[in-house]
Amino acid sequence: MLLNQLCPCGSQANYADCCGQYHSGKAIAPTAEALMRSRFSAFAKGNVDYLLDTLHSSKRKRGERLQLAQSIKNTRWTRLEILAKKQGTPKDSKGIVEFMAVYDRPELGQMHERSRFRKETDAEGQARWYYVEGDMLPPHQPKRGEPCWCGSGTPFKQCHGKR
Ligand SMILES: [Zn+2]
Ligand SMILES: [Zn+2]
Repeated sequence: MLLNQLCPCGSQANYADCCGQYHSGKAIAPTAEALMRSRFSAFAKGNVDYLLDTLHSSKRKRGERLQLAQSIKNTRWTRLEILAKKQGTPKDSKGIVEFMAVYDRPELGQMHERSRFRKETDAEGQARWYYVEGDMLPPHQPKRGEPCWCGSGTPFKQCHGKR
């Protein structure tokens, strides 16, 4: 398997078997976490259509497409870590996913967010998860002995946690 076929979401699965099946419409993300991961992969791959399609209708503003395109152009997302989740299973209609996403452009940094998702039935009668909104959280600090958030593999205290 070639490295560039690995899914950007960090699942270690092939892109086609992971978020790719949701991007292509071959399958529908069954959980809030799967939708979250597939939206991250869409950011990483520059798939604006998918990001718009999976954004809750109440949150689609005028100029959203342009904003998403700009954000994709300016930021290169490299890594996703799911930190916590609540509900969001195939049986639920609401879900919360806390995650940290790392980017290396314009400069190395992380985004730590708690996102809310809602499942609704679309015009074809198909139940789908949508991203509603998220709360920005302070930068995620790995616990003692855990590797740094940046993905270096070095313990946090010896990397970005060094004072
Ligand atoms: Zn994936
Ligand atoms: Zn680091």
